[in-house]
Amino acid sequence: MMNFSKSIEAFKEARPLMPGGVNSPVRAFRSVDMNPIFMEKGKGSRVTDIDGNDYIDYVLSWGPLILGHANDKVVSIIKETAEKGTSFGTPHKYETELAKLVIDRVPSVEVVRMVNSGTEATMSALRLARGYTGRDLILKFEGSYHGHGDSLLIKAGSGVATLGLPDSPGVPVGVAKNTLTAPYNGIDEVKTIFEKFGDQIAGVIVEPVAGNMGVVPPLPGFLETLRELTETHGALLIFDEVMTGFRVAYHCAQGYYNITPDLTCLGKVIGGGLPVGAYGGKREIMENIAPDGPIYQAGTLSGNPLAMAAGYMTLSQLKPEDDLSFRKKADRLAEGYNEAARKYEIPLTVNQAGSMIGIFFTNENVINYSTAKTANLDYFKTYFKSMIEQGISIPPSQFEGLFLSTEHSMDDIELTIQAAEKAFKSIRET
Ligand code: PMP
Repeated sequence: MMNFSKSIEAFKEARPLMPGGVNSPVRAFRSVDMNPIFMEKGKGSRVTDIDGNDYIDYVLSWGPLILGHANDKVVSIIKETAEKGTSFGTPHKYETELAKLVIDRVPSVEVVRMVNSGTEATMSALRLARGYTGRDLILKFEGSYHGHGDSLLIKAGSGVATLGLPDSPGVPVGVAKNTLTAPYNGIDEVKTIFEKFGDQIAGVIVEPVAGNMGVVPPLPGFLETLRELTETHGALLIFDEVMTGFRVAYHCAQGYYNITPDLTCLGKVIGGGLPVGAYGGKREIMENIAPDGPIYQAGTLSGNPLAMAAGYMTLSQLKPEDDLSFRKKADRLAEGYNEAARKYEIPLTVNQAGSMIGIFFTNENVINYSTAKTANLDYFKTYFKSMIEQGISIPPSQFEGLFLSTEHSMDDIELTIQAAEKAFKSIRET
């Protein structure tokens, strides 16, 4: 048995100081009834907690660390940059360097604005869509999470789904009524909504692969339909690639599925583990942002040198060939999990998209939030505890995906499959 005494002590100290003892809800490990684990350090695919327990890590700070923990070049550039000053509130050359890489790799982005989080990116993209079209309505999908902006905290995924919270108190009714929702992959529902409200919809915001109800790829025709309908009705198509950006593929999900949205939101990977977000798109739309245009959006620490340097050095090290290597690792993990599930007669569905993997304890084909919710949460809890005990760190929720880094080895994958097999055995025995 692992010893978690230092984590237990540390959480006792933190608990009264912050809501739930944490600064982001899912970190509190509520849905798995465990004391949260305090990490101390990480290198590559591995992390070590403050009790000295080692783990293969599939959380990767919830996605950003595509090169694994403490990548040498990323750490060096952060150190070198910090030694010269952490922020100036003036333009800095790393903003340009990162912008060039983003524009080069993300097909829809001609002009990009850096912000400090994914939440800021989606909030700003919505304001731009509304300001640009002169319309108020937004369409989002059930079980998708786009950060905690008022307009988007409606039928949301991620921690909202994990904690089983209804739509959040504090979102004004007047704001909520401007957000329409449809099931993810619900082509017919979206068509009906457009028939009714088409001329009032400013934009459709979608995770091109949903990652906040577990991992749910788009069915053939779904993204194509969104592209067609938005174009026909003069609405903007906004891809929220905060999670999928550089994870689903080198050219992001939009490159992989060959659909070009009007606006794209980014975060996570492009900050290399430092706080960041970005939104970008066609020049004609982006030039409506201040100071070029009247739509206001700003930030004291936006584009700060440390985040820009870390993001620049992260994207610089990614290669198109990584897509294939992520695919191989994800395929083997899925195959191993499926074999283990068959052996112990565990209902299991594994969804994949590049370096994102969704493990659901259900036999249903998981294509939207209602099918994701058929997953057995008790099984998940037993599986999670067993994986932690065996030194495999995964997100503490059925409604979150696993992330791979370039540093995860095939040996890591095999060790993980062996652990999953034991976890499935313990599900059968409980
Ligand atoms: N959009 C998506 C698709 C996300 O997955 C997240 C965070 N998981 C966000 C937006 C919000 O990003 P942040 O937590 O940086 O505000």
